Amino acid sequence: MHHFEYRSGRLYAEDVDVAALADRIGSPFYVYSEATLRRHMRVFHKAFEGADPLVAFSVKANSNIAVLKILQSEGSGADVVSGGELQRALKAGIAPDKIVFSGIGKTRDEVKAALNAGIYQFNVESAPELEALNALALETGKSAPVALRVNPDVAAGGHDKISTGRKEDKFGVAWEEARGLYGRAREMKGVDVVGVDLHIGSQIADLAPFEAAFSKAAQLIADLRADGCSIDRLDLGGGLGIPYGDAATPPHPNDYAALIKRLTAPLGVRLIFEPGRMICGNAGILVTRVIFVKEGVARKFLIVDAAMNDLIRPALYDAHHEIIPVIQNDEAPRTTYDVVGPVCESSDFFAKARALPEMKEGDLAAIMSAGAYGAVQASQYNTRPLIPEVLVNSDRHAVIRRRPSFDEMIALEASPDWL
Ligand SMILES: *Cc1c(COP(=O)(O)O)cnc(C)c1O
Repeated sequence: MHHFEYRSGRLYAEDVDVAALADRIGSPFYVYSEATLRRHMRVFHKAFEGADPLVAFSVKANSNIAVLKILQSEGSGADVVSGGELQRALKAGIAPDKIVFSGIGKTRDEVKAALNAGIYQFNVESAPELEALNALALETGKSAPVALRVNPDVAAGGHDKISTGRKEDKFGVAWEEARGLYGRAREMKGVDVVGVDLHIGSQIADLAPFEAAFSKAAQLIADLRADGCSIDRLDLGGGLGIPYGDAATPPHPNDYAALIKRLTAPLGVRLIFEPGRMICGNAGILVTRVIFVKEGVARKFLIVDAAMNDLIRPALYDAHHEIIPVIQNDEAPRTTYDVVGPVCESSDFFAKARALPEMKEGDLAAIMSAGAYGAVQASQYNTRPLIPEVLVNSDRHAVIRRRPSFDEMIALEASPDWL
């Protein structure tokens, strides 16, 4: 469910006319719907009503401060994967005791910052990381609450590049080594072992891999308790998929919750979740304008003003995004296009051989479901400025990240004095 819909043939973001917005802002730009963000966070909380989980939004999916503030006001915590994301979460007003820190390569400086902030949990992914965390905690006179991220060796996720829980993936502690490492952690004075953590992948469209992985985690907790470890938290990561307008229909959060309640109720642990895409994916669109229609020999190209540097998901993950005209034109014949950007790379495309109502120069299109892993992965490749992010709330809108000027784009560069 989202709040982007046609009214009298014109696309609206909540009560804001997208074409009119494009005239004010200048294309391309992202639009986020506040109502959709709030709705998704509420649906997730509601699915686990009574269980009092920590829902820690995965900041890497969309880290705009305004987005984080909205989710904070819905009771969300934050799952961060860098010192920068930690600073963003704190700046957005998220309490340290709702912040978990994931990632395989936390630097010493990042760990110190998180220790000083007093975060809720470190999700530790390897033996050397555990040693380093213990040493830093002892140095600063603190005790670090730790869950080990275990790798259950389960294949999941919409694409090879977003599967994280197989034994060949770089993430987590190997299943066979987990109990041993928990044993070592228990001996460490700077570390307080509190939980088990896993995150098996992203854009997961069915419950089976979750069931496989979470059952293994439940068994592990039983084993660890038998070893004398007091485990009272279970962090199940993120990964729930969203509809992108192609074949897959991911499970509803209620079904996901029912499965989890069944598997974890006997354990009596506090649950932690790190949803990203499920919260913000369908809450954002990318609005772009057709620069040219190019009749290739074999293909017809819609060349639009957004490009892979603005939204890299198709290039990186072969991701499917629905593309719709901002002004509906049902009479137009359907035409098959490759929708591409101006960047000098063959991988700069948004769709291949896509049937769309015929479009012409100057027409606006919306690339749907672009609210997760969109703006956060943008770059200035080809010296293209980062594009604005606009938030709508009913009939109001606000630019929550503006387009930089050319001078701002090159402000960090300097010529050496011999030039
Ligand atoms: C990316 C990530 C998430 C969020 O994944 P989604 O598929 O967006 O829900 C959660 N936890 C960790 C550790 C991640 O790396």
